[in-house]
Parts: sequence; structure tokens; C-alpha cells
Amino acid sequence: MRDKITVHMQKIGKFLLFMGVLYVSSQAIATSYSREDLTCSACGGRDSYPVLMSTNQLSPGSLDSRRGEMMRSALIHLIQQCKSCGLVSYNIAEKVCDKQNEIVKSNAYQTLLKSQNVNELSQKYLAYAYLLEQCGKDGEEVARAYLNAAWAADDADETENAIQFRKKTISYLENSSVTDTQLLLLDLYRRTSQFQKAIDLISKIKVDGNNENACFYKGIINHQKELLKAKNTNDQRMLPPVYCPPEDGSDKEIIGIYIESIGILNRSGDLQEVQRLQFKLIPYLENKTDFLNKFLLTYLYYRTNQTEKAQVLEKELTMPDDWNGFFNISNDIYYGNWVLVDIDDYLSKNSVPDTPFYRLARQMLDVRHKNGAPSPNDIEELEKALDSISEDL
Ligand SMILES: [Zn+2]
Repeated sequence: MRDKITVHMQKIGKFLLFMGVLYVSSQAIATSYSREDLTCSACGGRDSYPVLMSTNQLSPGSLDSRRGEMMRSALIHLIQQCKSCGLVSYNIAEKVCDKQNEIVKSNAYQTLLKSQNVNELSQKYLAYAYLLEQCGKDGEEVARAYLNAAWAADDADETENAIQFRKKTISYLENSSVTDTQLLLLDLYRRTSQFQKAIDLISKIKVDGNNENACFYKGIINHQKELLKAKNTNDQRMLPPVYCPPEDGSDKEIIGIYIESIGILNRSGDLQEVQRLQFKLIPYLENKTDFLNKFLLTYLYYRTNQTEKAQVLEKELTMPDDWNGFFNISNDIYYGNWVLVDIDDYLSKNSVPDTPFYRLARQMLDVRHKNGAPSPNDIEELEKALDSISEDL
């Protein structure tokens, strides 16, 4: 199996090299693993464990704080289990507490590792949660372990288990006055059909207007209200950051956040939302005179079916000779690369009219690919290769 991994890793290495040149600013750091020999802190058994070296988030996270792919699939490799004694921990080599060995040997602990009708990953997190409880660890830490058990149950389509593990998570969080924790609790109530509790909690959550996340928090609460009205217990999509561009942010910052969020939404396939954001972004670009922003605006006019406006603007566009100017519109923020990644992705999936703008776009993408940037197909293949590695491990 090691050899198979090595082959895959070499393949991925090649892709990563491709990605290096013009792709640095995007979120293309792939998930990668290494292996490490560790000694179990309970029984002294030695074994080799996969260790997550890097991962990324290419799709939106969930309302209950679970991250998007590929981080989402890495859940299985975050927890280690000793094959000899059954100790489960994020780091098997470190004692969770002094009573650890006694707890691991107990019937209660060992039974959890064999819980009936529960997938293997959830079993591990249940045992770990119990270990933390018995060690007298902080409630939030125990809650996190139960929440991981719930996510593993989601992935295994164990709906009832997922509800039970979410209820266990809730029991450790109910008294919190921390806004982030309350928002998690709100989602857990909804996902376990405890709608009245969710509504009561909303009235208690105080969002300080001066908090830098205030807009984000309000966005989540409003979204949860909509879901609660519909008694929706399944939807878990997180709002991308765009819903809250900084109110006092510069145009560059705001445009950058929109572009990044449109990219995330494009990859998640929420095209209705993509178009809504494209309409919101347009006013920030209409007074700009530089090539990048005019190029972007033309593209957005086409995407939002404002063809006449696009045709007027595209006459002013010519191939840039200064690529640095395209990618870096200032020293501290640049989004030229995201624009091209987005267009590349769009052109690979859709047929477009033969207009000066799209001809120019294809010309620019050709230059970009010649300079080593991956095409959408390369990325798809990379993701497939990574998926098969996750299955092997
Ligand atoms: Zn052990």
C-alpha cells in the first residue's frame, strides 16, 4: 500500500509543480499526508499512523462549523487509535490524563468502541468523548468530540445516530454565552428538530455591533431564521464570507471578497447565488478605468445577460503586455488570478458566443496555461487522485 501511495504522491507532486507558477494566490494547497511511527501512551505499542500535512477548503463549510472539502474528508485522519489497547486520541503518544489507562481498560470504554449499528469512525469519537468526560476535561472539548461523531454519522448516512450525537453535543454547550458557541448550538437545535429551543436561543444571542464579525453573525442568524421557518433540518450550507464585505473596506477589498466568494459558490454549483453576487459586484467596478477591472466588468455584463453594455466595453480591451499589472493591482491585495480561474472554469463548462471579449479571454488563458497554471481538468484529476489516496489510507 505504501508504494501505491508513493505513486499517487508523485503524480500529485507534478500537479503541485504546475500549480506553483500563477496559482499561488488561489486555495490550491492540496490535502497531503505523511506517516509517523508513534508509541501508544497507554500500552507502549508502536505503530505507524497517517499524519495530515496540509489540506484546503475548496467548497463552503457548514453552519455547524464543519469545514468544506477537502478538509471535510480529512476528518477520518485526525483521530488515531491504538490497535493493541484501543486508546483513541488526536495524538496517541500523549496522555489525555493520569487516569487514562484505567479508563481505556474499562468495560464502558471498550463497549463504546464496539457500539452496535454505529460506523467505525463515530465509534472512535464516542470512545474519545467518554475518555475526555472521565478525565474531567472541558465541556467544549467533549462537545467537539461528540460533534465529530455526528459528522462521521452524517457521512455514513446514519441519520438517527447523527441526531443522538448532536444531542450529546448540545448537553455540553447549553449554558454558553459565547456567541460562536451559541450559533453552533442554534444549528444543533435546528438539526435535531428542537425548533422552539432554537427560536428561544435567537432572542438571547447578543451581537455586539462593534464586533468585527457582527455582520457575519447577523447573516447566519437571519439564514437560520429562514431555515427554521421552513422547518428545514437538513440544510447545512455556510454562507460564504461575501455576505459581509467590510463596511468601511476599500473597493479593492470588497471586490476581492466578492470574487473569492463567487469562486467558492461556482465550485459548489449554486449558480443562482453566483448571479446575485455578480449583480452586487458590478456597481463597484463601473467607475474603474484600469484593464483588470474593465475586463472583469465586461465578463460580469456577459454573465448577467447585459450584452449591450458588454459589447460597448469590450471594444476598449486589448491583450495586456504587463502581466504583473494584471495580477497585482496593488501591493497588498490582488484578485486578477481569481478572475482568470473563474473564467477558465466557466469556459470549460459552457459554450459562449464568439465575441472579442471571449476571444481575448481565451488568449489570456492560453498564456496562463503556458506559464504553468493548471486547467480545470487538471484540477479535477488532481482531486480524483487525492480521493483515491484517502480511500487507500
Ligand atoms: Zn495502546
